[in-house]
Amino acid sequence: MHEFSIVNALLEMCEQNAKDHNMAKVTKVEIKIGKLSGVEPHLLETAFNTFKEDSMCHDAEFVMHLQEVVVHCPECQKNVIIEENVFQCPTCKSTECTVVDGEEMYLMRLEME
Ligand SMILES: [Zn+2]
Repeated sequence: MHEFSIVNALLEMCEQNAKDHNMAKVTKVEIKIGKLSGVEPHLLETAFNTFKEDSMCHDAEFVMHLQEVVVHCPECQKNVIIEENVFQCPTCKSTECTVVDGEEMYLMRLEME
């Protein structure tokens, strides 16, 4: 499953961070999931809770923030949140919009001790 490999990479990243800071364990992991990232939050959480047992994240709280898709409209010169898969400015109907947020999944914050 897609989410399992993501979680493996995420756990490795957390452990590396903990080691870099000479921490014993990770207590909280906060990630941001863009709605266009293709990541299913529910599956990701399940995968995290399954794999964390053998890692430095075994006691970690897992917090997910869902990020809306934001595009920049060159006509209106502003950023707007759009509904999924409709890449058009809701104000001027321009289709020249570029996605500026909501495409990726990344680690936002780690708490360690
Ligand atoms: Zn516009």
